[in-house]
Amino acid sequence: MASVAKPTIFDVVDGAWVLDNCRLCQKPIRFGWHPRPGEPHSSWASQLLFRRLCRDCVIGAAAAEVGPQSATVLALRRRYKRIESVWHFAGLGDPDEGESPLLRAKQLQVRRSLGVGRETPTLWLVRWHPRRQHKGPNDPYLELFQITGWLPVASMSAVPRDAFSGYQRFGLAEREVDGQLQVYATVQLAINACFPPAIPTEIHWRWDPWQPNDETEPIIHRFGYCSNENLALLAHHAGRLYYKAGRTGRTRDETKRYPPGTEQDFLRDVKEVITQRERDGITFTTVEMLADAMAMSRSALYEMFKQVPEAHDLYREHKRRKPRR
Ligand SMILES: [Zn+2]
Repeated sequence: MASVAKPTIFDVVDGAWVLDNCRLCQKPIRFGWHPRPGEPHSSWASQLLFRRLCRDCVIGAAAAEVGPQSATVLALRRRYKRIESVWHFAGLGDPDEGESPLLRAKQLQVRRSLGVGRETPTLWLVRWHPRRQHKGPNDPYLELFQITGWLPVASMSAVPRDAFSGYQRFGLAEREVDGQLQVYATVQLAINACFPPAIPTEIHWRWDPWQPNDETEPIIHRFGYCSNENLALLAHHAGRLYYKAGRTGRTRDETKRYPPGTEQDFLRDVKEVITQRERDGITFTTVEMLADAMAMSRSALYEMFKQVPEAHDLYREHKRRKPRR
């Protein structure tokens, strides 16, 4: 079968990344935080305020609202400091700021990969939970550090996910701009998996500007700062959440996902997911793992297996191929 090189999400955005400006001081927002409803230290203001203001203006507003020495202001300072360090580490910082030669080389490479000049896009932090998961103070979540870019008008009609090769940590969505529907992508440059009982230990994934089309291996951040039991739970949740998040960006309503007549799409997706993981040396030893990767429930997956037995066979063959360790 002839294969045509597919563009990556970085190729398609082609430099059309979004740099937001602060509505108060008008300066570019280099990095910011989009709190979800109920996130700690965000309830003193509307969520829009966080999206529209830079760090200094958010903290200034909080100081005026709840007092400069309040726990909220201190927590906000810490939070923005943390985002800033990811921003630096991601290579989005200013190369003129006298950083180490290695970081400077990385910054130049990031600009080249993103197709931007001096100004890099705004890096936003959002917290992510699986849709049906409980969102209590001890429940695991991912922190997604992402940038947004516009896709060209030509890609407006329909952008199937398999239109892209390479780095798959992005979501696609639509927005109306001046009466025109436009497609944009949010690309995740860094992901932290967090399980509150294990904090400060976390599991981190980072985009690598020298290999802009690949995913990097996860690393354990601050190993040894939590109990072994919590470390094991962190690892378990991190794997589960990571493969559930991100790869699909458009929200998938699984009941409508494969309506009658789209059985071939289901077969194709199963094949794609399995091939991809096999390339990484990963075996879905349970149907649950495959369902997670497909962003489906286990029962919905079984339902589809009944309708598309070839897909079920593919999965069985995949399990038989399990590499020996
Ligand atoms: Zn500002």
